[in-house]
Amino acid sequence: VIITINRDINATKHDFSEAGTRGMVRALNAFYTYQGEGPWAGWPAIFWRLAGCNIGSKEDCPWCDTKFDLASSREEGSAQLAYYLNNWPMAKMLVITGGEPLLQWQPLVDIIKTTESVRAIRHRSLVIQMETNGLLLREEMMHEAFMRGINFVISPKVPHNRGEYAPIPAWFNSYPSLISLKYVVSADPLSPYHDIPPDAKDCSNRLRTYVSGMTEYKRPVNFGERASLWNDTLIDRESTAGNYAHAARVALEYGHRVSYQTHLLGDVE
Ligand code: SF4
Repeated sequence: VIITINRDINATKHDFSEAGTRGMVRALNAFYTYQGEGPWAGWPAIFWRLAGCNIGSKEDCPWCDTKFDLASSREEGSAQLAYYLNNWPMAKMLVITGGEPLLQWQPLVDIIKTTESVRAIRHRSLVIQMETNGLLLREEMMHEAFMRGINFVISPKVPHNRGEYAPIPAWFNSYPSLISLKYVVSADPLSPYHDIPPDAKDCSNRLRTYVSGMTEYKRPVNFGERASLWNDTLIDRESTAGNYAHAARVALEYGHRVSYQTHLLGDVE
């Protein structure tokens, strides 16, 4: 049984308009750790966690372990980002995550464009990665993303009222160096996440595609507690092991890369 943890509301762009007019985003926290999964797995990274998700009630991804609730958020802008960049000089990348960061795309781009941020990012050749469910990604955003060096790692979700993945937009294939896909899979044959969608199996797809096993929790993560695979009061190791093995099989079958949540091994945030 997959339990739903850290449930919030389904946020809309309207929830951020007030902060946006001041050139700010609503954020929860920032921390220094390593990127556990996807194309930059293992890289030392500053994670900047923004508040709110457009599928925050988590009917679509009940296994999501991220705390992103709007009510606990605060406004942050370019001074705060510059502070984070200076505070963790060893980081090789900036991961903008959520919740769903694309709800706040324009203020985010404006913040990244500020002189202080540009200087810090360029000087250190920091990789910028945005983690998104992709539902709000539009081709018009790609020019700005290219100019600012923003890479998207999209983890598509199955909308519960649709029961299957939305098709991969054809235009994604025009930006194979800026867009990666990461599918989370479950070994449960009844789960909508059991298989990846047909268009993600297509070998002519030029995007980097990753397959990740779903981590299953026995209970919500306590405040301040680090999620660790070694904590068997927290993580259902048996189901998770089955999901990780299933991810390996799916990745091998379609020639994709496998991606595990390696941060769960290191007792890090
Ligand atoms: S889209 Fe991402 S952040 Fe939002 S509820 Fe799902 S897994 Fe969590």
